[in-house]
Amino acid sequence: MIHSNISVLENGHIAFSNTDVVELANKFGTPLYLLDEKRFRENCKTYRNTVEKYFGSESIPLYASKALCCKEIYRIVSQEGLGTDVVSGGELYTALSVGFPSEKIYFHGNNKTEEEIIYGLNSNIGAFVVDNFEELAFINEQAGKLNKVQNILLRLSPGIDPHTHRAVVTGNVDSKFGVAIETGQAFKFVEKALECKNVNLEGIHCHIGSQIFDKYPFTDAASIMLDFASDIKNKLGFAFRKINLGGGIGVRYVENDPQMDIDSIMGEIKNELDKLVLERDLEQPIFLFEMGRFICADAGMTLYTVGSVKEIEGYKKYVCIDGGMPDNPRYALYGSKYTAYNATHGDREFDIVASIAGRCCESGDLIGEDMNLQRFDRGDIMAVAVTGAYNYSMSSNYNRIPKPAMVSVNNGEAKLIIKRQSYEDILANEI
Ligand SMILES: *Cc1c(COP(=O)(O)O)cnc(C)c1O
Repeated sequence: MIHSNISVLENGHIAFSNTDVVELANKFGTPLYLLDEKRFRENCKTYRNTVEKYFGSESIPLYASKALCCKEIYRIVSQEGLGTDVVSGGELYTALSVGFPSEKIYFHGNNKTEEEIIYGLNSNIGAFVVDNFEELAFINEQAGKLNKVQNILLRLSPGIDPHTHRAVVTGNVDSKFGVAIETGQAFKFVEKALECKNVNLEGIHCHIGSQIFDKYPFTDAASIMLDFASDIKNKLGFAFRKINLGGGIGVRYVENDPQMDIDSIMGEIKNELDKLVLERDLEQPIFLFEMGRFICADAGMTLYTVGSVKEIEGYKKYVCIDGGMPDNPRYALYGSKYTAYNATHGDREFDIVASIAGRCCESGDLIGEDMNLQRFDRGDIMAVAVTGAYNYSMSSNYNRIPKPAMVSVNNGEAKLIIKRQSYEDILANEI
């Protein structure tokens, strides 16, 4: 087993966080999302301790909640002492609904609506990460109406290609996110922010992409951000107190992916950052990070029931499941790879090659193609591993398929945290 929270029990069933998943499938039905609460909390702790160790207690570790967001997750994240990023009014509402401390909330997004901005201002969030000039002007104006000074960071685009999949690259110069440093527009962005009376410019932010396995994308981005900070200091006499380098640390989905050691990568990043700050003779800024996938991905698993197993003789084999792109659109979106197990017969050899197909009317509705799998028969439970990030949060009701329930497991204890949608739920807003 390449993931330490997955094992095979004596009865041949797969266990997740020491819980028999076939029993969970029987009790709660499929498709079913599982959350390994223990692992999720461990990931939060490791991240928090590492950030504190290398970047000090002023650097509050942030959880990018778009990766996996629901009430229970915000409760846990808040208990574990992390702050959070939200990217919409809906995420903000969910966080506040369980009493998430508003001063630890950063509001992102490349095109926040006016309504969302006013909601954020009224909720006293910690900071907006401002994406563009229009947004800056609007936040300043509205903060003025409320007689307040809102903390902000400016989203910049450092012009970096972190060598991951194109669709998840966000720091390149022609990205839709932020304002480019290379074109000189970021300089004007800072000048503008400094002119605004009702915002307090705390610093700058960049996020270069996702599923990154080495320090260079971070340190290359940091080097550009610090050159920029130095330029601003020299020309405008202004020092950024906070520099947020975003998220993006990768996780292991399949055997070929490396297993990241966050302590060692953060340590390496810290050493490089020290050098970069020293070379530029800058005052020590507070570096911030905001990891999403790293915290939740391997704390998730999805269970399905296998229906048909279809062999197109001489061509391809499909194992068809009772879920698919509505609960996990990542293969359709990015061609992302997964590891899947026969949870009923976890002791079988991996001796077939087959694709996993969902049940939607789309040929692209797949969890993976030509994967190395165990043999499956109708009725077997399939467990797809490492589905904690960008599965539930990207789920849809395509083909009017209700969203699965989510159950948290913690060393043998199972607890329903999101109810399965019913057909009535699907019709709830329809007149
Ligand atoms: C998505 C996102 C993150 C988190 O990325 P992960 O790859 O999940 O760590 C962090 N910051 C911003 C601005 C993002 O958009």
